[in-house]
Amino acid sequence: MQQFQQYIGGEFSDGSARFESRDPATGTPWAMMPEARAADVEAAVAAARAAFLAPEWAGMTASARGRLLARLADLIAENADTLARLETRDTGKIIRETSAQIAYVAEYYRYYAGLADKIEGAHLPIDKPDMEVWLRREPLGVVAAVVPWNSQLFLAAVKVGPALAAGCTVVLKASEDGPAPLLEFARIFDQAGFPPGVLNVLTGFGPDCGAVLTSHPGIDHVAFTGGPETARHVVRNSAENLASTSLELGGKSPFIVFEDADIDSAVNAQVSGIFAATGQSCVAGSRLIISNEIKDAFLQRLTEKAKSARIGAPDLPETEIGPLCTRAQLSRAEDLIAASLSAGAQLVTGGQQLEREGYFFPPTILDCSDAAEAPCLREEFFGPVLSVRGFDTEAEALALANDTAHGLASGVFTRDLTRAHRMIRGIRAGIVWVNTYRAVSPIAPFGGQGLSGHGREGGLQAALDYTRVKTVWLRTSDDPIPDPFVMR
Ligand code: NAD
Repeated sequence: MQQFQQYIGGEFSDGSARFESRDPATGTPWAMMPEARAADVEAAVAAARAAFLAPEWAGMTASARGRLLARLADLIAENADTLARLETRDTGKIIRETSAQIAYVAEYYRYYAGLADKIEGAHLPIDKPDMEVWLRREPLGVVAAVVPWNSQLFLAAVKVGPALAAGCTVVLKASEDGPAPLLEFARIFDQAGFPPGVLNVLTGFGPDCGAVLTSHPGIDHVAFTGGPETARHVVRNSAENLASTSLELGGKSPFIVFEDADIDSAVNAQVSGIFAATGQSCVAGSRLIISNEIKDAFLQRLTEKAKSARIGAPDLPETEIGPLCTRAQLSRAEDLIAASLSAGAQLVTGGQQLEREGYFFPPTILDCSDAAEAPCLREEFFGPVLSVRGFDTEAEALALANDTAHGLASGVFTRDLTRAHRMIRGIRAGIVWVNTYRAVSPIAPFGGQGLSGHGREGGLQAALDYTRVKTVWLRTSDDPIPDPFVMR
């Protein structure tokens, strides 16, 4: 079995305990992972705090921080193949997706490398003639970055990149499911030349590791990505340290297709929106909202694509649908489908786990035209399961799109420009993709509202969000301070 280690204060170690990681394609254990518990969390936070205060990091110029991030970006690009293979092995995400995504992860670090020395303060035209007043932007401090199992390198990059660019230090907690790519990332990070303790990488379970970390008094900010239930724990944990939080949570994103849409494009985008990454994507377009004029024809085309998608070993380049990450996800998908069918949903295709080793679930479509209360319309599956509703009018399409407590992403397919603008304004979500889906960039902010969380990752604002403003008042007059009993 392959062995992995945690990374604290620039040193690699085994952790308080060890646990097995299973290969989702076969269900068999393949590696031993370090399991961080309270003592490891304590050591990691202490190392991050010491690094935050040490002159090697605190006194480093922003440009020098940027050069280190650029070096890290190069190292990730050089090691993209190894990282992609590890992510595929440990999470079951297909190699086509991990290879493309990890090559792009390097670009996120490059973007934040360039931003490091552009995080500027400000000078204020203050309303008092004998004062100079300016704002310093200072790093928040020690950041706890907690990520879920899917796209861990990507979700770590959107936290670690801006946090280090801003001058923070980080304790990064990998998911207990599929932590291999982030533990390998720690080895690569170690070669980039950052002072020890600037980044620490742990993995472990929720109660013994995640909860201890996010409630730790040495943490200034918690950057969390995961499910809404865990997010509630994290917010409760942060009542202990009063750390600020940013929350990137799940979605139940609408994918709206009008009758005038380019149907070939819309079908492909819907496949990408719900079947790519085996549907295990926070931005999955899991609710198809489609004009009744084209519903039957569209569903026929989509069903053909769903049935012909190549299901197989995730490490084969031809595979299009890999396994789900955990056995628990398989049974959850089956339970949700059973409950949705009981509520009146009609099964169009898929619906049952495949009879083969590993955690494979086929692309599934549920027509909910007569099942407005079906749980598949409300609850995130995190699997390749699409729910469908038809509409007759634009107003109805918008109402269906917004009939959710989530608000992460959305897609609109139409050739009508004015209608597209009305939908962009009306949809309650952090992202609207028009005539495309599942596009991301380091330059574009990413995040949601409602049950999908708050805060934005990516873009300039994300780096600013890892800083706080210090207001400096400097009196320029040599005259004695006037009446001390009056506020100036
Ligand atoms: P999860 O919420 O179960 O776990 C996320 C992380 O939280 C893990 O590292 C876990 O160990 C940790 N954790 C668990 N209990 C904790 C506690 N009490 N305190 C602190 N940390 C704790 O999520 P998951 O099942 O691994 O991932 C799937 C979820 O992540 C989905 O809901 C998905 O939509 C969401 N997600 C959101 C985004 C986004 O950017 N919006 C991106 C990817 C995934």
